[in-house]
Amino acid sequence: MKIKAAVLTEPGKPFAIEQVELDPPRAGEVLVKMAAVGVCHSDWHLVTGATKHPMPVVPGHEGAGIVEALGEGVDDLAVGDHIVLNWAPACGRCFYCVRDKPNLCETYTKAIWAGTMLDGTTRLRWSGQPLYSYCGLAALAERTVVPRQSCVKIRGDVKLEAAALVGCAVATGVGAAIHTAHVRPGDSVVVLGCGGVGLSIIQGARLAGAAKIMAVDTQWEKIWVARHFGADSVTMWTDDLLAIVRHHTDGRGADHVLEAIGAAGVQERALELARPGGTITLAGLAPMGTATNFPSALVTRQEKTIKGSYYGSVNPMRDFPMLIDLYRGGRLNLDDMITRRYSLEQVNEAYRDMVEGKLARGVIVL
Ligand SMILES: [Zn+2]
Ligand SMILES: [Zn+2]
Repeated sequence: MKIKAAVLTEPGKPFAIEQVELDPPRAGEVLVKMAAVGVCHSDWHLVTGATKHPMPVVPGHEGAGIVEALGEGVDDLAVGDHIVLNWAPACGRCFYCVRDKPNLCETYTKAIWAGTMLDGTTRLRWSGQPLYSYCGLAALAERTVVPRQSCVKIRGDVKLEAAALVGCAVATGVGAAIHTAHVRPGDSVVVLGCGGVGLSIIQGARLAGAAKIMAVDTQWEKIWVARHFGADSVTMWTDDLLAIVRHHTDGRGADHVLEAIGAAGVQERALELARPGGTITLAGLAPMGTATNFPSALVTRQEKTIKGSYYGSVNPMRDFPMLIDLYRGGRLNLDDMITRRYSLEQVNEAYRDMVEGKLARGVIVL
């Protein structure tokens, strides 16, 4: 069938809205009518060239939609089911999956980063040539075909534009707080960066029972939004940051510092803000090649722990429905995270707003 999709032909170019050809789902695949797609920095890494990927590619990896057709053998989904897309599909059987680390599943990595389905072929074509699917999802399109493993079924009574955020920013942020950092009741938490991931970390820390949540950003607008999402105190990124954090933590530093930017300078700063014995969790997805210098003598002498958090250490099949339940129950605020809605045709405007820091989250509504 013919569909409309955002296409990136090479780094540095704007996204183009094109009519492209979408083949029907093959065995083990699902045709999804997209409802909403979040605007996320990882797509932008394709534009800057920081993420190397076969081109042309249809971006978009934070999405929700409705099942429209099932490929052969898919017997645990039905047409009409609401789903959230998972950009790290897991096999359930590999070394990592059986150790409850499906976010690190090693079975599908090659296909996903090749931008194809799991059998190594593409379902999208443009002018007769293969068109690749970012993360195997190609969510920035009216419809997409994805592996069954990339679909997480959710309840049918929540808004799909809110559910879409669960597929990347919210899973990454809430998961970083509760699964990676293991924030516990009474803990003090510093959150560096108050975009979609940072606001989700704040909400995760709140859910985990943190006693003090300090939010830091370079923009006043963002730290005031952070207060709305549960930060107890907000601070601009300044040279006095260490003194301010110590002031709020009896002079020691925070139990947890979570970084939601993916920038070396911010990560280095995170280490000094944590108390001796504290934990630094790096949740921002830094571009490949990013290197960060930590004073290792202090890591040893002060027993600080540095953790990486990929996709919030979540198990999407288990955690996406849980996060949606928390949203439905009023314990997780997704509605207010959406700063602005855009049409597919406004995709370049949406990413420009994101880069300029105007959005907690922008959502393309299809
Ligand atoms: Zn993302
Ligand atoms: Zn696996």
